[in-house]
Amino acid sequence: MDFELSPEQVAFREEVEHFLDENDDPEVFDVTRENMAQIVDTPKKREFMRKVGDRGWLGITWPKEWGGQESDGVYEYLLNEALARRGGPQIGKGVGIIGKTILAHGSDRMKKEFLPKILRNEVEFAVGYSEPDAGSDAASMKLRAIRDGEGWRLNGQKTWTTSAHFAEWYWVGARTDPDAPKHRGITLFLVPLDQPGITINGIWTMGDERTNDVFFDDVWVSDDYVVGELNRGFQYISEALDLERFTMFTFSPIEQRMEVLRDFVAAETRDDQRLGDDPVVRHEIARLATDCEVARVLGLRVVAKSMKGGPPPTTESSEYKLFATELSKRLADASMDIGGPGSQLRVHTEDAPMGGRAESTYRYTVIDTIGGGASEIQKNIIARRKLGLPKNF
Ligand SMILES: Cc1cc2nc3c(=O)[nH]c(=O)nc-3n(C[C@H](O)[C@H](O)[C@H](O)COP(=O)(O)OP(=O)(O)OC[C@H]3O[C@@H](n4cnc5c(N)ncnc54)[C@H](O)[C@@H]3O)c2cc1C
Repeated sequence: MDFELSPEQVAFREEVEHFLDENDDPEVFDVTRENMAQIVDTPKKREFMRKVGDRGWLGITWPKEWGGQESDGVYEYLLNEALARRGGPQIGKGVGIIGKTILAHGSDRMKKEFLPKILRNEVEFAVGYSEPDAGSDAASMKLRAIRDGEGWRLNGQKTWTTSAHFAEWYWVGARTDPDAPKHRGITLFLVPLDQPGITINGIWTMGDERTNDVFFDDVWVSDDYVVGELNRGFQYISEALDLERFTMFTFSPIEQRMEVLRDFVAAETRDDQRLGDDPVVRHEIARLATDCEVARVLGLRVVAKSMKGGPPPTTESSEYKLFATELSKRLADASMDIGGPGSQLRVHTEDAPMGGRAESTYRYTVIDTIGGGASEIQKNIIARRKLGLPKNF
């Protein structure tokens, strides 16, 4: 694998950085919001992402026929990482997950309706797989869709739906055949979130992120908004999750948290001793810095593999997601330990070590190891698909 960027890729990265400098705005970029920043939830962020779309950078890897540039995945990676590094909104669900799944499995009608809007960032999506009794085991979802005229009537509940309170469309799995094996009776729908019968209630997490419960009470959806084939939704969801594990969990914030900790250790003294001279601290920093390199390479391996075409690289995405999110948590733990009691102070508190980042990171990084498939599930995937161990669930 060649880790060097080509001159064109270096030029693209510089162009992106220049564009981000020109559009620098604290309401759009905020590294202290951890991964919440990636969400396009305010008019300012939407406006900014529209500008990114005007540059032709959204869907840069998509086929030309559908408004893309057919560029290597590395361009998308460079763009997404540059956005993440500044704590800005990211290409996330629309381009990275839903757009790519529609490209692969959607009808021409669906492509014509959604793909141009995604490329111009004129639409936001929420993703609804999880239910109160179906999180890790998404194939157990019960939200029921019953045939009604030229469409379907949906009843039931989803939970943990991030973005539902501001998104326009809901990418949602529902059970269309209760008699089929559980993963063969699910269909994927696109549902407008302003439909009568939809109720959205907020849930606030320890990481300050708002997510939602969503209730369906006789919500009608036309056949036009069935994604791909009936009853094959679980296959599409699995593919989309492979994309999510990579697209939504960028590496730059981890690298940045490492820099914050390293700078703190280099500058700080404790009991008249430089923190950087403490052998225990030095050992911890060396271990974390090495693991950051490992995470970076695991991420690049997914990029390299996904550029070869074919289905998304499943096992590699799980390896990256597992290692990177667990590393984030270890980094947060180390920042709290090394920062001492003061690291419990919040962002914007005077004299908070590391600008209060340790505290927010500590609360946020727990979520990364759950959302998009918990760490234990990633281990199961690796055990089965890579190590050939028997199925345990
Ligand atoms: C902030 C946040 C945002 C989210 N956003 C969304 C969203 O937008 N859309 C969406 O659909 N979902 C979303 N989720 C849901 C997320 O994908 C689920 O929480 C996750 O899949 C875990 O499911 P669960 O919470 O039901 O836990 P459970 O499945 O009940 O798991 C509980 C524990 O048991 C372990 N476990 C379960 N099964 C196994 C097994 N077979 N082997 C070993 N261990 C196992 C799990 O790893 C976990 O540690 C979000 C979650 C959070 C926290």
